[in-house]
Amino acid sequence: MIVRTRFAPSPTGRLHLGHVLAAKVAHDLARREPGGCFLLRHEDIDGPRVREEFYQGIEEDLEWLGLDWDETPLRQTTRSAAYEAALSRLRENDLVYPCFCTRREIQAELAVMAAAPHTAQGPVYPGTCRNRSHHEQQQKLAAGTPHAWRLDADKAISITGPLAFHDLRLGNIAVIPALLGDVVLARKDIGSAYHLAVVVDDSFQHITHVSRGEDLLASTHVHRILQCLLDMPEPVYLHHPLVLDEHGKRLAKRYAALSIAALRESGLTPAEALARIDAELNETWCPHSSA
Ligand code: GLU
Repeated sequence: MIVRTRFAPSPTGRLHLGHVLAAKVAHDLARREPGGCFLLRHEDIDGPRVREEFYQGIEEDLEWLGLDWDETPLRQTTRSAAYEAALSRLRENDLVYPCFCTRREIQAELAVMAAAPHTAQGPVYPGTCRNRSHHEQQQKLAAGTPHAWRLDADKAISITGPLAFHDLRLGNIAVIPALLGDVVLARKDIGSAYHLAVVVDDSFQHITHVSRGEDLLASTHVHRILQCLLDMPEPVYLHHPLVLDEHGKRLAKRYAALSIAALRESGLTPAEALARIDAELNETWCPHSSA
């Protein structure tokens, strides 16, 4: 098997040390195998926050660090037809439903629930629109009511049966459909969303090893379900620890001082920047045994 990995930043800012860790993990996973490929994907569907200068800035930062990639970088904004096709397939099989709720309605619904389930990303959708009749759905759609499309997670798992995925660091993990609940697969405003786009693109780019920060571990539960529903291959996963700031919080783009551009201007060499990343890692994060 030829190993194919990817680094998938959003061009909404320059890279900081947290991104460099993600890029380096994916780069090294590919480069340690003969013929391994490391790809770059710009996850640029998040409209207004994306800026043209950041595509180039990200590529410049990676080049400076010597984290060279193969093939032409993929831009998700060129892939909407593929996301629509995947959504149509899920719609035909009645595995998604239109959600007409506004953010405020969801909050109001959650406020009256005794124990609303929460994730690190926020509360899980309470399922309001899952229970609408087909007739009501059609009426609202025909009236042009703005809507997202949500995965019916329970229905999906009843079709796929129990699922699991393998993480090189964390071992085998059983999929829990309730973890993120009925996630949005197509947003009201942009017609697609991270979970569907990432699964469709990982399959399109023949990614064999998906590495990313452990903040996205819960998302992988959803991704395994989608891969199974859409007959897509199952990659191996590696969720790595995050680079933390001095308060133990994950680095955010506002930590401009740790952007690669700033470190570079302060006179740091690429080798020193990469050494800072190595210092972040302890020996347990990535087994050196082959996948
Ligand atoms: N675009 C995501 C990020 O910047 C990465 C998603 C992924 O690797 O699956 O955090």
